[in-house]
Amino acid sequence: MSTLSHQLNLPSYLDANKLGAWDMYLQQVERVTPYLGTLARWVDTLKRPKRMLIVDVPIHLDDGSIAHFEGYRVQHNLSRGPGKGGVRFHQDVTLSEVMALSAWMSVKNAAVNVPFGGAKGGIRLNPHHYSKGELERITRRYTSEIGIIIGPSKDIPAPDVNTNEQVMAWMMDTYSMNQGGTATGVVTGKPVDLGGSLGRREATGRGVFTVGVEAAQHMGLSIQGARLAVQGLGNVGGTAAKLFGEAGALLIAAQDHGGAVLKDTGLDIPALLAHVAAHGTVADFAGGDPIDPDNFWDVNCDILIPAALEGQITADNANRIQAKLILEGANGPTTPQADDILGDKGVVIVPDVIANAGGVTVSYFEWVQDFSSFFWSEDEINARLVRIMREAFDTVWQTAKTQGTTLRTATFIVACTRILNAREQRGLYP
Ligand code: GLU
Repeated sequence: MSTLSHQLNLPSYLDANKLGAWDMYLQQVERVTPYLGTLARWVDTLKRPKRMLIVDVPIHLDDGSIAHFEGYRVQHNLSRGPGKGGVRFHQDVTLSEVMALSAWMSVKNAAVNVPFGGAKGGIRLNPHHYSKGELERITRRYTSEIGIIIGPSKDIPAPDVNTNEQVMAWMMDTYSMNQGGTATGVVTGKPVDLGGSLGRREATGRGVFTVGVEAAQHMGLSIQGARLAVQGLGNVGGTAAKLFGEAGALLIAAQDHGGAVLKDTGLDIPALLAHVAAHGTVADFAGGDPIDPDNFWDVNCDILIPAALEGQITADNANRIQAKLILEGANGPTTPQADDILGDKGVVIVPDVIANAGGVTVSYFEWVQDFSSFFWSEDEINARLVRIMREAFDTVWQTAKTQGTTLRTATFIVACTRILNAREQRGLYP
């Protein structure tokens, strides 16, 4: 198989046959390059992460045995500011996946114009197989190991798939212990009692909702009565579903790793979210009919929100999708081939790098609040979030119009121009 990664002659420890997400990202960069003008001479900087750290994470398990985990922290680009991006716990995490996720953070942070570069971390494990004590030891050892490259002005982790406020509290405490002083600004998404920000937990879903409303307005699509389908009812998909429901949309179908449910007249969203909170999946929710998870892609809906993992909408299922509008709550849910199929069908896709940027936007507010030790009200945070998301979306919408591109390429035009401008102005050292 010849991939863009092969052509780039990447380090030999990367298995080019498993480079799914990273290759998707490289194809996205190929698509934006013709629009970068003279900045295109710097484009290789986007194809090579600045710094990648692989760490061994050994801990004592509860039964006294010793287990080793593989952890990563990738700083893709630091031209515009410190690295910023989450840490995920998942059994399928690989270095190349974290490379892609870190690159998408560079693009996302530039798209909403927060002063951060892009970074991401991960540990390859299934967190559901470990006790709370084991997860604490894994988190603390991982934080210590990546402690040489993170810090409030160097690289600031945050929650991502399967990590939460508790994990961030352990990370903040471990880093602080090693430094000999409390450094709240080293991570975002912390509990509010430890320098966390009001509104952070709901921020990503609120951002998805905000750009969804904007896009729907441009398309002449009414949210009132709109038929919604959501994949992944976690923090992002769950909050987005709740806000769309409150605005009058009907959640017709929900799917996740455990199963899928359908109700043509609309699922009871608060009841479904309570079921997910109790059981960890939408499966067996009594308020809807179970359907084959694969049939989720055929559902008659107006708005589709993939809010789980990358690579979900592919050339195999894109043709079956009936939605007019796709809001990417997840990072990297749509392959470039699926992008083309959906584009030809006239489906509007608001890409991850803008649609789910609400989380890191409020992370930026949290970091600013930690630095100034002055905390804002939730109303203030939500109002600032909505303003940034709307402005960023409108810039991208106008760019897509004037350049005749998809919203994804338009977002890359806006963001990569900012990143490479910073790169050029800083110049090469030495
Ligand atoms: N993990 C989130 C994302 O993918 C948030 C990152 C952050 O807040 O730094 O955007």
